[in-house]
Amino acid sequence: MSFYQRYSGLGNKFCVSDTPMMARDNQSFKPELLLWNERVSTELAIPLEKPSAHSYLSGQLPLPGVDAVALAYSGHQFGHFNPTLGDGRAHLIGCFDDAQGQPYDLQIKGSGATPFSRGGDGLCALGPAVREFVMSQALSALNVPTTECLAVVTTGQQVYRNGALPGAIICRVASSHIRVGSFQFLALHEDLAGLKSLMELAIKRYFTEIKEQGDERIVAFLKAVCKKQVTLIVHWLRVGFIHGVMNTDNTLVGGETIDYGPCAMLEAFDFEMVYSSIDKHGRYAFGQQPNIASWNCARLAESLLPLFSVEQSKAVAMFSEVLAEFSKDFNLAYQNMWAQKLGLLDWRDTDAALLSELLTLLNSEHLDYTNTFAALSNSLLELPYSCFVIPDALQSWYQKWQTRVAEYDREHIAQLMCSMNPAIIPRNALVEQIISDYYQHNDSSLLKEWLPLLQHPYRYQEYEHRYLAATTDAYYKTFCG
Ligand code: AMP
Ligand code: MG
Ligand code: MG
Repeated sequence: MSFYQRYSGLGNKFCVSDTPMMARDNQSFKPELLLWNERVSTELAIPLEKPSAHSYLSGQLPLPGVDAVALAYSGHQFGHFNPTLGDGRAHLIGCFDDAQGQPYDLQIKGSGATPFSRGGDGLCALGPAVREFVMSQALSALNVPTTECLAVVTTGQQVYRNGALPGAIICRVASSHIRVGSFQFLALHEDLAGLKSLMELAIKRYFTEIKEQGDERIVAFLKAVCKKQVTLIVHWLRVGFIHGVMNTDNTLVGGETIDYGPCAMLEAFDFEMVYSSIDKHGRYAFGQQPNIASWNCARLAESLLPLFSVEQSKAVAMFSEVLAEFSKDFNLAYQNMWAQKLGLLDWRDTDAALLSELLTLLNSEHLDYTNTFAALSNSLLELPYSCFVIPDALQSWYQKWQTRVAEYDREHIAQLMCSMNPAIIPRNALVEQIISDYYQHNDSSLLKEWLPLLQHPYRYQEYEHRYLAATTDAYYKTFCG
């Protein structure tokens, strides 16, 4: 199996050759492999050997026969358009095909400044690297579509972020790095050939079912991207994931989670929950995520308009229909999500009130989202585990719910609920603890104990209290890293 670059055909404005810092200046760096994701390495049969991987994944050596590149993209950041973003601290070191012939990108992040750094240092500190490693593995195990993290390599160099921190490089594996912002960039530069090629690249990777031609093809593509976004956001809502920075440049058309900067998990249930220090107005709050995904799809639609052969007003009308469908699709998937979380095999009109009463209680009583649904699931098991408890404040609602689900086969719905409601999630305070253990004592014992548990989030068993405790305080803030 060999490595190659697959975006080169999109033009040298979009795909810029660039050498990672370690290949430029070897002397000041000492790359060492810190974390390795054996599952991803094996599942995708990535042709890299663990003992020598650090040289390639730090960018010190190029993958055989491949020049690293940085990709250009634009993006709406918090609603404001930025024409020139791009990989400012990442290099796409190569692509490979898995056993089924599906392409994947290997991208290293924290590998030095590129033509897109805009004055940034191009680096990444160890903390955010470890966060991405933990969170992406946790989300993957939760069955949330996501880019994966193959490895974290320490650089031996310091990075300055309110003081000196050890530097690191993350190696990300993604089915592509085709962002809404990639389309925005090509549209901005009126590169119609590039736009068309990028759309075809995405169709080939994700949507081979699209057979339409001409304008219908563009409509079908947008529709397919919308569906992927709906699926992704419903998963986020199901597990309580708050992405934190849903800019169009952080939205992949393949519908995988990317950019684990200021993300966090919801604990006390609240649709308005925001953790990101830069999200002052709650644009990316937990419950805003569907609206934002739809908004981002509308930005994709705008970028695709120049490809139409019919006049623009007609194209806009076609797209408006697709975007209206987004809401319909979302509402249906969302209702289905709640039905499954509650063990309801069919949804009745009265169930909306049952759900609404529960969510109101969760919110007013500051109850933990994960633990509450885990307790409901657990209550159906033949031998319930004592670490999951129905909160007192929920007792009277719990009676109503029990009556409602009594009409179904108990074992069947227990199975369904236990596969929808995680027993264990990457708790914010524990992720922070792992990071500070690394920073303060280079101690990875918590990570080593906890990560194997996160890899089986639907395993109902007795857990130590510290793995289930909701300890995020009201002042908890996340940063872009
Ligand atoms: P993000 O918020 O992580 O999606 O990043 C937004 C943009 O800022 C992207 O173009 C990044 O490449 C760029 N960026 C973020 N951090 C740095 C950094 N330390 N140095 C250079 N560019 C950066
Ligand atoms: Mg980004
Ligand atoms: Mg980021």
